[in-house]
Amino acid sequence: MSEDCERARSRASLALDCELSQLERAHLRAHLDDCASCAVFVAGLREVTHELRAAPLPAPSRPLLPRRRRGRGPAAIALLLVVAAAGAGGLAGSLTTEQAPVHAITTQSGLPGARLVLRAAI
Ligand SMILES: [Zn+2]
Repeated sequence: MSEDCERARSRASLALDCELSQLERAHLRAHLDDCASCAVFVAGLREVTHELRAAPLPAPSRPLLPRRRRGRGPAAIALLLVVAAAGAGGLAGSLTTEQAPVHAITTQSGLPGARLVLRAAI
């Protein structure tokens, strides 16, 4: 099978799902006009697709309901403990007595008495 035929057959599948651009559809039509083998393939593909889409959906053998969630498992509890420990460690690290440099940005608006001060420790 030529590369053109493979591309046309791939595009035929996309065309059935309306996922081809106008240009790609034109290329497909042009190929099918010149290639009897692909035209037969695409006709069969259309027929099977039509039959599948027209077929009734099978009913489930039992009602489909989401599973009820049980309590948290040991892995979830272990993960929560690790996250809590990491958070506590970060908090302890931020409570050091070391003084971080502070940069202050002061802006004055046009309003008398209005003043905005932004401070950031870097
Ligand atoms: Zn072909």
